[in-house]
Amino acid sequence: MTDDAMFRFDNSYARLPERFFARLPPTPVSEPSLIRLNESLALELGLNPERLTTPEGIEVLAGNRVPRGAEPLAMAYAGFQFGSWVPQLGDGRAILLGELIDREGVRRDVQLKGSGRTPFSRNGDGRAAVGPVLREYVISEAMAALGIPSTRALAAVATGERIRRETDLPGAVLTRVAQSHIRVGTFQFFAGRRDEASVRVLADHVIARHYTEASESDNPIFALLGAVIERQAELVARWQLVGFIHGVMNTDNMSIAGETIDYGPCAFMDSYHPDTVYSSIDHRGRYAYGNQPSIAQWNLAGLADALLPLIADDQDTAVELATEMIQSFPTRFAHYYWPGLHRKLGLMEAREGDVELVQDLLRLMAENAADFSLTFRRLSDLVDSSSRSDDWVSGLFDDPAAFGQWAVRWRQRLSSETRSPAELQRDMRLVNPAFIPRNHRVEEAIQAAVEQNNLGPFEQLIEVLASPFEDQQSLERYAEPPRPDQIVRETFCGT
Ligand code: AMP
Ligand code: MG
Repeated sequence: MTDDAMFRFDNSYARLPERFFARLPPTPVSEPSLIRLNESLALELGLNPERLTTPEGIEVLAGNRVPRGAEPLAMAYAGFQFGSWVPQLGDGRAILLGELIDREGVRRDVQLKGSGRTPFSRNGDGRAAVGPVLREYVISEAMAALGIPSTRALAAVATGERIRRETDLPGAVLTRVAQSHIRVGTFQFFAGRRDEASVRVLADHVIARHYTEASESDNPIFALLGAVIERQAELVARWQLVGFIHGVMNTDNMSIAGETIDYGPCAFMDSYHPDTVYSSIDHRGRYAYGNQPSIAQWNLAGLADALLPLIADDQDTAVELATEMIQSFPTRFAHYYWPGLHRKLGLMEAREGDVELVQDLLRLMAENAADFSLTFRRLSDLVDSSSRSDDWVSGLFDDPAAFGQWAVRWRQRLSSETRSPAELQRDMRLVNPAFIPRNHRVEEAIQAAVEQNNLGPFEQLIEVLASPFEDQQSLERYAEPPRPDQIVRETFCGT
């Protein structure tokens, strides 16, 4: 590979057995034009942003030109979708171009999503619409700025082609970057075919790539299971702490590396309630906010099942080990969730009664439809009594008095913290974002882009969300909950 290559690819997945994927190039589009390039991510990946925005670079990002060193392929995987087994899914509209080693030495996949049909497309057209591509761009980048592991958006390119959905829509291609695109469902693909040898090859690949510490264990595959459970417990705890609802937690949408992946009908909750569902396809609330931890555990049990023959020679022993490991999920989740929640309230040192205090607040928030993000953000402004009075927060509750009574207990509890109010306030603000990708703002940005060809609101939103924990005075409106007429009740995957 010479120095003038646009990407310095090193493709470990393409070196796996041919049954792991289908090799094919992306399908060219008629008139590619750049919507946005993520310059800082490009630099992080050791890429040249100027070069990516030349006509040649845009051709690559659109799938019209396969760059040197790429070994394009569509990955095979299976999955449980809404609880039902689907033995073959696979990348139906995505092409992995290859892998890069980033500036930190981390291997990252570069994938085009919306890049045309593949052998896994079934009845789909292999394409993506501009709206969902912008949605994924905004929300995945917002997650990354919040410090939550996530796939990233390197670029969005309009194809100049229309695609057929319920109506005709403009098409786009998203360049997605991930530590890998291997899913729980990738393991299930081979396990479902009783192809134990492939499960082992995949497990070895995943250990070498994402969980090197597991290779030192006496039982690396079992250690891998434990390590994946740990990362997912942390990930889902962090979703809960910012009010993120994934919307389609099928096993094919669960990354083995522990990143948030597949931004379809996901949403950040406005007013708090554990039963909240936004996804238009989640009729029974399987993936409601409050169900996310138990669904993650259910998905991980599927991973354990796929790994079972490799955990121990004797089946009873394997089942016993795996069961115990899966049952550790709630404890692992709690280990991240509760201290995280306490920090959001300024309870930095553990005291008896903290859990009740926090649960009471959540209950009051649910009863009073209080905005999730803003309640916590504004609580931090109450710590230092000189900045705001209680109505700053109580105004977010249907019945403001409900908050007042709780606040008395909270203040009493805070007085036992050794940190000063100023320190508490600072620490609380570091975990309570002011700016999340509010559904109505995301929809507004998409509408302006798709209907008026105006990318202004999209660009503005990306900029605000890049600094979620900072006060951005002139952009305060982006922190505010929707007015009743602005509330978005349903989100769509738009596939
Ligand atoms: P998702 O609901 O986005 O996780 O997708 C589920 C499966 O459907 C995956 O195998 C996707 O690759 C496939 N898929 C989604 N949309 C399309 C499309 N427009 N064309 C082909 N395959 C698709
Ligand atoms: Mg998916």
